[in-house]
Amino acid sequence: MCYAIPGRVVELNDRVAVVDYFGEHRKVVNEFDNLAVGDYVYAQGGFVVQRVSREAAEETLETWREAFFELQKVDEKLSNVNPPTAGKDFLELMDKASLGRPLSSDEILRLLGSEDDGELKLLYTTANLMRKRNLKNSCCVHGIIEFSNHCRRDCAYCGIRQGNGSLPRYRMTVDEIVDAAGEAVNVHGFKALVLQSGEDSWYSIERLTETIRRIKEECGVLIFMSVGERGRECYRRMYEAGARGVLLRFETSNRELYGRFHPGGKLSDRLKLIRHAADLGYLVATGSLIGLPGQTTEDLMNDILLTKELGAEMHSFGPFIPNPDTPLAGAVPSEVDSVLKVLAVSRLLSPDAKILVTTALETLDPDAARMGLLAGANSLMIKLTPGEYGKNYALYPGIQSNKTTEDRITETLELLYSLGRAPTDLGI
Ligand code: SAH
Repeated sequence: MCYAIPGRVVELNDRVAVVDYFGEHRKVVNEFDNLAVGDYVYAQGGFVVQRVSREAAEETLETWREAFFELQKVDEKLSNVNPPTAGKDFLELMDKASLGRPLSSDEILRLLGSEDDGELKLLYTTANLMRKRNLKNSCCVHGIIEFSNHCRRDCAYCGIRQGNGSLPRYRMTVDEIVDAAGEAVNVHGFKALVLQSGEDSWYSIERLTETIRRIKEECGVLIFMSVGERGRECYRRMYEAGARGVLLRFETSNRELYGRFHPGGKLSDRLKLIRHAADLGYLVATGSLIGLPGQTTEDLMNDILLTKELGAEMHSFGPFIPNPDTPLAGAVPSEVDSVLKVLAVSRLLSPDAKILVTTALETLDPDAARMGLLAGANSLMIKLTPGEYGKNYALYPGIQSNKTTEDRITETLELLYSLGRAPTDLGI
């Protein structure tokens, strides 16, 4: 099982390595001692995460070589723009966006506000074409391990909020997290993992850093931490321990809405922390919830622009899904198209970003992952939280499934291959 293609180092300048993948060259940051030109490596998110022997690399490359070019052909076919059935102004807008010219606020609002099937089809296809043109057919597949559903916060939409007394709570021990990560990397082949939890101070800075250090000792993997507002010192120490990514959504760029849904929280504090993480050198994954009660199209535009302004390497936009055990139980859920529009417009404005299809979107429609990937997205996450724990990481009501990790991986790979996408992350 492979979620990245090994590449050969063809150039080394200080901390920057140039890696060759079937003739394509990418620059990545190297933190390994004694790396030399000619060595084979795996890279994720722009970092070298693992060195591999020439024999192992060549074996993997052999199985990939044919598939790599085959998949590109399928992708090529699927990303052709069909004769559109949209109005002239919309066509002109698409032309402008695909040439990489900046769009005005009014133009962005025009795209996000469209309800016309023909226009939306054209918007998604154009975004897909931009994705292909800038990033080819690589699709990064991260694993996510949700290690605790204890949370000191009371976010109005969230099922693991402190005030939800009906949720059985769990915490994975450091050993359990390290084992789950080891299995994800060494058995299933993941090269990037997200470790997520509620805001749970049982995990002291020492426990978090020990977890990261032990995972880094055992496996070559890029670690994203998603542990909420744990303070600057915690983020500094987690970086020192080896984490290189942070997943922290700002949830909504509207200050008033933020205040309403996050008792005791401030948007400015959350944004400061996201910026601080970026300053520390972390890759930042951020974004917002789509369809929150009271949210306007203008808010969605500002969410997209803020994500770009924060320099996010991964854009994470997902639908709000009302949870019956929260104060927003009776709210109206987001529509699939509202999310697809945000993904597509993000792609037009950030041609080189990783744009995620969230598991929440997949909950709204079993075909949503495919739709998202055809509307500009190029990243997926697979839930790897062990059995019973996974059921209780109930942010929103979902389809309870008895799928094993193997089932989820197989389904994801089948989907990616059917779209001509390679489950890789070749670096930047
Ligand atoms: N404590 C971490 C992780 C929070 S839970 C943090 O603060 O970042 C992960 C994400 O789930 C949140 O960022 C939120 O956007 C999403 N989420 C929570 N409740 C949801 C709901 N009802 N519908 C959709 N997404 C939800």
